[in-house]
Parts: sequence; structure tokens; C-alpha cells
Amino acid sequence: MIHEMLAVGALQCNCSVIGDEKTREAMVIDPGDDVEQVLELVRKHNLQVKQIVVTHAHIDHVGGAMKLRQATGAPILLNQNDYALLKMLDVQAAWIGMPTPGKVEIDHSIGHGDSVKAGSLSADVLHTPGHTEGSICLY
Ligand SMILES: [Zn+2]
Repeated sequence: MIHEMLAVGALQCNCSVIGDEKTREAMVIDPGDDVEQVLELVRKHNLQVKQIVVTHAHIDHVGGAMKLRQATGAPILLNQNDYALLKMLDVQAAWIGMPTPGKVEIDHSIGHGDSVKAGSLSADVLHTPGHTEGSICLY
């Protein structure tokens, strides 16, 4: 398994790139910012991003998701209970004094019973509301 982690953006959110060494398929978890650096890791391992997984809709976790989708064509996955929070990205940006990343479109909601995949690698989605209504964990 390929697992690269880098701290992205002003709040240094941990973004993970997880890839299957055989199929070269990958998922990126929480691309909050610094998408060019994320893509450098993807290219370094010759990976194809198949899923963009967002654990919750705070700006430091989701801010770079659209740029990454544009670069890779991969769908963005987020639990639907955070869609309202996602609509407030401009407000979140103002709170921490950073430019707004613009509108982020979600391709699919993910929740309990779903799994996310990178080639033969798979993680179960656990809906764990608390930090936000739509927070998820991957097991
Ligand atoms: Zn948060």
C-alpha cells in the first residue's frame, strides 16, 4: 500500500494519498489546499485518482477538492449531513481570513455501510457526527 500524508493549507490539515501498488489506483482524503503538492505525490507514484474523500466540510479539509477534481476527473464524496456547512465555505473563509475556494460540488454522499476504494484497498465508512453533523471516519 502506498500511503503519503502531507499537511496542507494555513491550518495544516493532514491530507492522505492512498494507492494500490499493483493497479496504481488511488484515493485522496481531505485535499484542503495545496493541490499542486498533492498532485506531485500522485505523479511521483504514477497513480490515478479514482475518489476524493472528504471527512467533513470544514474549509481546511475540502477547500482544494474542486481543483483536484478538475485535475483528475475523480468524484468528490462527502456525507450529506454536511451539505449545509459546505454552502457556508465563504463564511468559513472569512472566519479564518483566507480567500474563498468557491463553490464545491459533491458527486455522491457517503455514510454508514458504504466503502471507499483504491484498487484492491478498501475502507468502511463510519458516520461519526460530533465535530460536524456529517463527519465520517474510515476504518
Ligand atoms: Zn474540522
